[in-house]
Amino acid sequence: MTSNVVVVGGGIGGLATALSLTRAGQRVTVLEQASAFGEVGAGMQIAPNCTRILDEWGLLGEVRSLGVLPERIVMKDAVDGGELSALDLHDVERRYGFPYLVIHRTDLHGVLLRACRRAGVELVTDVTVTAYSSSPAGAAAIHDGGTVAGDVVIAADGLHSTARRILSDDEPVSSAYVAYRGAVPIDRVAELDVHLKDVVVHIGPRCHLVQYPLRGGEMFNQVAVFESPGARLGKADRGGPDELDAAFEGTCPQVRAGLHLMWRDRRWRMVDRDPIDNWVTGRLALAGDAAHPPLQYLAQGAVMAIEDAWVLGAHAGRDPDWDGVLAAYNAVRPAHCRRVLTTARSWGEFWHHDGPRRAWRNKLLTERDTYDYSYVDWLFGPTALTPDQEPPMFR
Ligand code: FAD
Repeated sequence: MTSNVVVVGGGIGGLATALSLTRAGQRVTVLEQASAFGEVGAGMQIAPNCTRILDEWGLLGEVRSLGVLPERIVMKDAVDGGELSALDLHDVERRYGFPYLVIHRTDLHGVLLRACRRAGVELVTDVTVTAYSSSPAGAAAIHDGGTVAGDVVIAADGLHSTARRILSDDEPVSSAYVAYRGAVPIDRVAELDVHLKDVVVHIGPRCHLVQYPLRGGEMFNQVAVFESPGARLGKADRGGPDELDAAFEGTCPQVRAGLHLMWRDRRWRMVDRDPIDNWVTGRLALAGDAAHPPLQYLAQGAVMAIEDAWVLGAHAGRDPDWDGVLAAYNAVRPAHCRRVLTTARSWGEFWHHDGPRRAWRNKLLTERDTYDYSYVDWLFGPTALTPDQEPPMFR
């Protein structure tokens, strides 16, 4: 039987949820606070655990045509420029059956938006949800102009989620790191010593720089991340361009050359939340960053949001028993995302070592076999629908 589903938030997580549940035969309304559906930012990496789902939804061809399939992910020491470790992405596609892609986040959001329109999702803008209600028969999203009720409400309302407050009194956790991004036409990097076929991650003391091509190689994307001295001191004015330049002073010329191409008028605080193990109350459930905002070091934030959507759709099927669906979702997703969130924090610390710890880190990374997948199997393999399908972290 067809149910009415309300999704709050029209980011990548909300649209993916709407699409997945519409594909399962449900009638879905998305409520978005902004006056238009869109995304702000630059590139993003999507791993095979996400491209597998996009393929099932019939979207991988479009995503491939808009993105880039890099040859390798290469990790380099930002201080001396030496290569430390790499993943061969052709081999990754062979191993997991689906590609590792990079794409402009506007393009991925656009693919999902068009798919939602084709599928008949009702897309509503200019609605800010301020409260929720839930009963045994359904739930509702409450906004200034009224109430939108459904058999179930999925809140994908991001890091500062209103819905999350019903389930937890936790607050976002600031890591004191700040990110600058920049996506520029490829001709602007012609004179720089950059790799145009790889994702390159230069890791350095309290800083790193990620570089990769975008849009079929027409653009070049960079993310520069560093620990802000202002944030460490608790200053409101933190992470300005002067701090950006100072943070990368000790890095090699190849890294420093990329910095002047960053967008200097915008910056993003690196914030996550402690994991929570319950995302469901009555007929209201959290998804995407509302449930599990990570630090971005594993590049799995949007990927996890798309996995949430797929798991909800798979459990819902054509005739959903919503209490059972939400219980099954809650049994498998929080545990997986807890591992991603906590691993992302440790992985970031590992990248940013200095002194003897940097030497130890470099030794570990250079000794790793390129074809050793024990660190990523648990991430890149098929998304688990039940706890017993969740792979161990190391085999
Ligand atoms: P959001 O994108 O925050 O969307 C929430 C939506 O809800 C917004 O449209 C908002 O307007 C709306 N909303 C909020 N409150 C309300 C309300 N009360 N009523 C109605 N609407 C509301 N992830 C990857 O997978 N790969 C990467 O390579 C990657 N790189 C990243 C790099 C950086 C620097 C950063 C900061 C993040 C990165 N991420 C990456 C993470 C990824 O961007 C997020 O995890 C993902 O976009 C979250 O999507 P979402 O839809 O859950 O939340």
